[in-house]
Amino acid sequence: MFDHKCTACAKRQLIFPSQITDMATTGAGIVVRFTCWCGAEQSMLTGKSSTTTSKVVLAA
Ligand SMILES: [Zn+2]
Repeated sequence: MFDHKCTACAKRQLIFPSQITDMATTGAGIVVRFTCWCGAEQSMLTGKSSTTTSKVVLAA
């Protein structure tokens, strides 16, 4: 899991693997799509090329 600041509800919350709806590897890194606790669809870029400090732990 990882923490994410939602663009819809502006809350920083933990996102669990069960909330992830899609993952795709791109040239820029790994794009993770998930549903926030508020119900909004969110996406986050992670991986080696990402500037985010968030870390994805794949426990699913
Ligand atoms: Zn939200």
